[in-house]
Amino acid sequence: MQYRKMGSLDWNVSALGFGCMRLPTRRFTLMRADTAKSVRLIRHGIDLGINYLDTAWPYHMGDSEKVLGLALQNGYRERVHLVTKLFMPLVRKTEDFDRFLNTQLERLRTDYIDIYLFHALNAGEFEKVKRLGLIDEMERAQQQGRIRHIGFSFHDTLPVFREIIDFYNWDMTQIQYNYMDTAIQATTEGLAYAHAKGIATVIMEPLKGGVLANPPAEALAVMNASAHKRTPVDWALQFLWNRPEVTVVLSGMGSQRMIDENCAGAERSGIGSLSAEEEKVIAELAEIYRRKVLVPCTACRYCMPCPAGVNIPQNFAILNNVSMDSNILMRWMRRWGYRKLTGSKARVNKEKANGNASLCVRCNQCLKHCPQEIAIPDELEKVHAIMGKWQHVDRHYRS
Ligand code: SF4
Ligand code: SF4
Repeated sequence: MQYRKMGSLDWNVSALGFGCMRLPTRRFTLMRADTAKSVRLIRHGIDLGINYLDTAWPYHMGDSEKVLGLALQNGYRERVHLVTKLFMPLVRKTEDFDRFLNTQLERLRTDYIDIYLFHALNAGEFEKVKRLGLIDEMERAQQQGRIRHIGFSFHDTLPVFREIIDFYNWDMTQIQYNYMDTAIQATTEGLAYAHAKGIATVIMEPLKGGVLANPPAEALAVMNASAHKRTPVDWALQFLWNRPEVTVVLSGMGSQRMIDENCAGAERSGIGSLSAEEEKVIAELAEIYRRKVLVPCTACRYCMPCPAGVNIPQNFAILNNVSMDSNILMRWMRRWGYRKLTGSKARVNKEKANGNASLCVRCNQCLKHCPQEIAIPDELEKVHAIMGKWQHVDRHYRS
């Protein structure tokens, strides 16, 4: 494992961090974590040298923090930097700060959090942080020893990012960044801005919710033609580790194979290690993906559950996969995946969210939760036109 300096903190952190929002799940549930499998995987990652673990209140409907609390027993807690977040959409008043933090300490079975983040700050949530005096609450918790350092994760635009960065002496920031998303969210400029201020920068969504792990045929052809043989995942991760501004790359790893491959990749990584030819390959891949991905959903599931039972990320994944597959048989199979979701109000199972896009009733409840600012009801209408009514993609996109 390679280790990097954590901004202005006196830490050596593993270049690869364990993101605990995509743990193995229990059978017949969409989001609840499988405790035994998850504990085994997390400990396996730590045994391979990962010392940075990231979780949050809502991950796996609260199971992620509980599972992590179990995984970190028997001496594992002392081997890692543990990071969790104050889930801003649920914070209504200043007193909520203590309620959430104390519950999270209990779930995590620990006395302290190494870094406590404001979760998914955007312009609106940042105003709430200021209005409720939540930075004072963070500092109070820090003085009491319940948290050690303060940071924020971010989903908004560059001007908002700069404003938040300039507002406080943060220890770290967590941003969405990958070779497709260099010009949206915090952007490359924001990444450099935080780094110049000595703030550690942790990367989330390095594979854009798995999209970069499943390349379309044109992207695969570019990878195969390169003299450098890498998996699609490794191309995406090495792009990030190559940059001096990146401290930790988080990966949500749901199997031992993923952990082994990503740890091996981290071991090979290095700042400035990619050649000009490799950087050119990545630029070509980004261009291909930008032409193919129709809805920039990262499958974070913050928009779920939908009261109508629509499986929002699944509908968008099916559409993007149809767009990315050049093979007619595979496209047909993807469409079959859409038919397996139900369009019947009588048959929809809201617990399991097995509904297709046609069930959306435009209540708009999901809109405020989407960090990618996707116009979810509008996009679902297009999904159903394309997948349910077999209209051509070009009629709704690319025109
Ligand atoms: S707008 Fe549609 S998809 Fe979003 S929560 Fe409402 S019914 Fe569900
Ligand atoms: S639609 Fe938005 S909130 Fe829902 S899973 Fe996709 S990116 Fe996440």
